[in-house]
Parts: sequence; structure tokens; C-alpha cells
Amino acid sequence: MRRAIGMAALGGACLIALAGFVTPRGPADVTSERLLNADNEPGAWMTSGRTYSEQRFSPLDRINASNVKDLGLAWSFQLATNRGVETTPIVVDGVMYVTSSWSLVYALDARTGHLLWTYDPHVAREVGFHACCDVVNRGVAVWKGRVYVAALDGRLIALDAATGQPVWSVQTTDPAKPYTITMAPRIVHGHVMVGNSGSEYGVRGYVSAYDADDGKLIWRFYAVPGDPSKGFENHAMEMAAKTWTGNWWKFGGGGSPWDAMAYDPETNLLFFGTGNGLPWDEKARSPGGGDNLFLSSIVAVDADTGEYRWHYQTTPGESWDFDSTQNLVLADLPIAGRDRKVIMQANKNGFFYVIDRATGKLISAEPFVPVTWAKGVDMATGRPIEIGDPRYKTAPATIFPSSFGAHNWQPMSFDPQTRLVYIPAQEIPGEYGTDDKFAYRPGQWNTAVDWDLNTLPEDPKARAAMRNSIRGELVAWDPATNKEIWRAPQKGPWNGGVLSTAGGLVFQGSADGHLAAYDARTGRKLWSSETYAATLAGPVTYTVGEDQYVAVGAGFGSVFYLVAGFAAPELGNPDNGRILVYKLGGTATLPHPNLTRVEMPRPPAQFAKPAEIAAGHSLFNHYCLVCHGYNAIGGGVIPDLRYSPLIGSEPGFEAVVLGGALKDHGMVSFASQLKPDDAQAIRAYVISEAHAGYAEAHPAAGR
Ligand code: CA
Repeated sequence: MRRAIGMAALGGACLIALAGFVTPRGPADVTSERLLNADNEPGAWMTSGRTYSEQRFSPLDRINASNVKDLGLAWSFQLATNRGVETTPIVVDGVMYVTSSWSLVYALDARTGHLLWTYDPHVAREVGFHACCDVVNRGVAVWKGRVYVAALDGRLIALDAATGQPVWSVQTTDPAKPYTITMAPRIVHGHVMVGNSGSEYGVRGYVSAYDADDGKLIWRFYAVPGDPSKGFENHAMEMAAKTWTGNWWKFGGGGSPWDAMAYDPETNLLFFGTGNGLPWDEKARSPGGGDNLFLSSIVAVDADTGEYRWHYQTTPGESWDFDSTQNLVLADLPIAGRDRKVIMQANKNGFFYVIDRATGKLISAEPFVPVTWAKGVDMATGRPIEIGDPRYKTAPATIFPSSFGAHNWQPMSFDPQTRLVYIPAQEIPGEYGTDDKFAYRPGQWNTAVDWDLNTLPEDPKARAAMRNSIRGELVAWDPATNKEIWRAPQKGPWNGGVLSTAGGLVFQGSADGHLAAYDARTGRKLWSSETYAATLAGPVTYTVGEDQYVAVGAGFGSVFYLVAGFAAPELGNPDNGRILVYKLGGTATLPHPNLTRVEMPRPPAQFAKPAEIAAGHSLFNHYCLVCHGYNAIGGGVIPDLRYSPLIGSEPGFEAVVLGGALKDHGMVSFASQLKPDDAQAIRAYVISEAHAGYAEAHPAAGR
């Protein structure tokens, strides 16, 4: 297999040289033929996972284990926005296309980083309220001289690759509903495929295919059934509806396919992963139980028609926010003496799945981190074997893994030389319990779990112990035997996506602001460079002329730093995100960002009694925590409320929380949910947390 790749790489070099003379191309002139033969152009990175198999492996080997120590910065580019950077750069014919938060698109000279053009879709900032996991974007697709971006507000926009000017734009979602999009589109046979997000709020997820020429809708496949009284769109929805109970369609049901896609040209199957249930707690969603198809599933449809072919549900009756949207990777593997064509996923729920991609039949499923909700997967039925009461029917439950996932959107990579998968894995527990007071709140966070359970211990030592108990590691995994080969422990959880290369290297960024290269066979760290910001996006590699480059996006943001500020690395307040590009002998210097570490001001006097503060704490947990963090501790992505002058002002706080004074910054009005007394109780609670934080920072001053 290794020999075959080497030959393909050589052949590719000749083809590129010939193509350069014979058929001069315009920018981003990517076709089916080029995508299907992507291994003939190893110097390009033409679709999100490099090839339709989405392995995120590059046949390039000029940068390898023996010279990676000489890797240095070639150039960096400062994006126009701060917050999370999750883009996978697309590189074709010497041009790099990247995105930043708020769905901005940039075309850069891939050799120098010189800006060719930029496009801003001007997403209304209040849409950010419906983006559970930061206002991020994971990149573009390119096709026949156009660049396609899915904007946060649900638009799919085609841009002229030469100028960045819009050619067409379609609204792929109902703007009256809390849909968002953060994923990179994929293009098959001239159809632009895109899903959506929103299963924490109130949507019915789906995948759509649009004509790349004019934006006409070709097909749509819903992840979950709609209102049965209105009839079903297809037989798959009719089948799925039999696995639901109650009036799930009133909330939307969820299942949003918000990230992963892969395509198999042999079977013409398009694969995608679907999201969690809405609400999370199945008791509130489908009170009579049921598997709730196609939540938390890997689904295969005909790429041309969107017709259902097969599904495998990783988490039947999903109850923990175990989306099945982690990246899907296709490979041909010898397993137990047979050559198998498989699809693989390191799932949020902690199991690594190897599935026959033609039939959907499970080949193996093993945990790649400690898992406490199930002891394994029954190979006869393909169903998890649950332990105890993980569905918190009788009492709250502490579960490994949690809604952050054993693996989340940060893409894993499969290396066909080592035949190993490299997983950005993590160990973070979650507290789950039924919210007895749950009532559906249109447009709001609707999980039906009790967020009061997600409170940090008061005692600083206990809090530090909790912070230290959550872990992250890079895991090398053999999918043929479904066993771990090595693991490289990291400083904490929520690290970067992975790239493997024929140079015997595995590249991964980390939360603590580094990009590192590991030996693919041993896990030994061979090189590391400081990036000054969380480096979470999937790295890519490409060539221009003789030089091989490694590129990655870096920037502070994404869901972990919104919710779990207490565990965020102390990198200071961030500048805008950046694209960082390295080559052998690179000598560029990375400007140190303006890390303005602000001292917490002395908090305003506490004005409320303990009962009001406690009520404010509960309201905070149910309305504010998902953006402003456990115990109001900010992670640096959006303003830390404990530092805000507004908490000292009763009318000022009310003007924001109920009056919507900052809606153009993403802070919408909660007037339909909260009363003035509620807002003041929340203010009292935030002041109490500000006092706790201030006392911790100034131990001598007392409380
Ligand atoms: Ca989710």
C-alpha cells in the first residue's frame, strides 16, 4: 500500500507539470475528475478532508521525521475577526481559501499569505445567540471557479473564485427558526451538500443538495420525521416515525447533521452524521421511549437523489447530547483476513465504530477512552449495553463522556501507511438529571436537563481538583483490531484536529497555544511551535513550487471556552484569529498578540439576600451558562460578566438582559422569558461570583 502511494505521488507530479502547459486554468477550477483523482495532485488540498474519503492524510513527504526539526514559520495572516477559528484551508493552484468566525471568506496567495480578496456575508450578530458552540465556520468548498460558503445565518453563497464577488445566494433554512450553519459544504457531481445546526434550540435537522451552477434545490433528506398528520416525505421518514412517541415534531426533534460528510464514488453513497435529540432528555422528547431514528446516526444516501440507503444508530434513544457528527473516514482495511471497505468514526459517546460502508453493518465498536454509560456494544444487535441508570430516570447521573464528547468536531486522521487512526480524544464527565420544571421555550436552549447540577464546587481546592481531573490526549488507534497503539497525553482537553503525512508525521494543535508534530509510529513529539492561541482547527499540507507547507488556523474560541471558562488555558484576552503556515527553514516571526490581561475590578456591593442569590444562580444556569460559563467564569471568548461595569447598575443590567441593548453584539433580549426581578436576581448572583473571584485573586484583602 505504501509503494502504491509513492507511485501515485510521482505520477501526480508529472500530471501537474503537463496540466500547467496544456490546459491553463482559472482559480479554483476543481472538477469531479480532479477530486476523484486527488492523489494525482498531492500538492493540493481540494476538499475539506483532502479527498472524498476524508482521511486527512497527505502523500507529501518532503517534510518528514528526519527534518521536521527545521520547520519554521513561512508566513502568518491575521483574520478580520476574533473568536473561534475552525477552518480547514482549501488550497488549489497556489491559492488558499479560508474562513473565520461570522462566516468571512479570504483568498490568500498560498506561498506568501498575500490577501487576494475577502468576502463578508454580514451575518446579523443576533444570530450568534443561536450558535451554541461559537460563531465559527469550518471552511469552504470549491468547484469550477467558484467558492462556496455556508453562512452562520443559513445562507449558502457561491462566490467568484477570482474576485470574491457573490454569484448567487440561497437561504437553506427557515430564518424564523433557530437554525445556524458552521460546517464546510461538500460538492459531489456538481451538487453542493450542506447540513445545519440547532438541535439544542428547536429545529428539525436535514441535509440539502443544491445545484452548484444556480443554487437550485436538488434534494433534501430530513434527519428526523415531521408531523405525521402532514404525511411523510419518504419511506425512510415513515420508518423513522415508528421509533418515536409523543409529539416530538412540536419541538423539531433535532438530529441536525452539522459537520461530518464523506463520499464513496464506488457505491455513489454520501454519508453524513446526525446530531443529538431535541430536547436532550428522551423522557421530554419521546415519553414512551423508542430509538428515535435518525438521531445520533451515521446515514448513507444516494448522492444523486438523496434516497435513503442505510443507517447505523450509534446512540439509540439519545439522552446525553451524543451527536454522531464527528468526522467520518473511509478506508480499505484488511480485517480478520478479509479486505473490508469501511467507514469509521470516533464517536462523541466514547466508542470507535468500524462499519461496512456498502451495507452499514457494524464490524466492531470499542471504547477509546473510559466510558461509564455503556459497557460495550452487542455485536449481534449493534446496540450499546447500558450500565445502571445512565438515563437519569431515578436519580441524576455522572457520565463519562459528556456533551463535550470523547471526541468532537476536531477532525481525526487515518494514515494508510501505518494503518492507524489518530484521534484528538478527551475525558470530561457530565452531570445529567431531569429538569422537572422544563417547559419548551421557543428559540431558546431547550435541553430539558437540570443545569443546576452543572455548578462548580465552592471550595477552591475541590474546584482545582475538578479542573485537573479532565484530560485530553492524542490517541493512535488500530481500526483493524480496534485497539490503542499509543497515546500522547496533553495538558488539558479540547485540543486540535489532526493531519497525518507520508513523512511519518502526525500534526496537531493544542488548547495551550502550540502546533506539534509527532512520530506517527511511536507518538514521540518531534517538533513544537508556539502559536499564542488555541489551535483547534484541522491542519493541512500542500506544495507551491519545491516547498511543502503546513497550514493551520489559530484563535481563541469555540464551545469549550464559552461554557467551561474555569478550565480554559490562561493565554490572556485574544487578538483576532490567524492562519499560520510553516515550511522547512521558514524564518518568519509570529507577532506576539496583544494579550491584555485585565485585573478584575473591585466588585460592586452585594445587595441581595442569600435566597435571592440562589434563585439568581438557578436562573443563570438555565439561561446564561451556555454562553457565559459555569459559575459566570468567562473563558475569554465573550466578556466575563464578573468584570462588567453593568453588574453595578440595576437599570443598565436590565437594559441589556430585558431591553436587548447589546443585541447587535449577539446578546439578545430575554424579556419573553425573564421578569425584572429575575434579571436582578441574576445580577445579584453574578456579583456574588465576582466577589468570590476577587477574593481568590486578592487573598490578603479578605472578603
Ligand atoms: Ca449537540
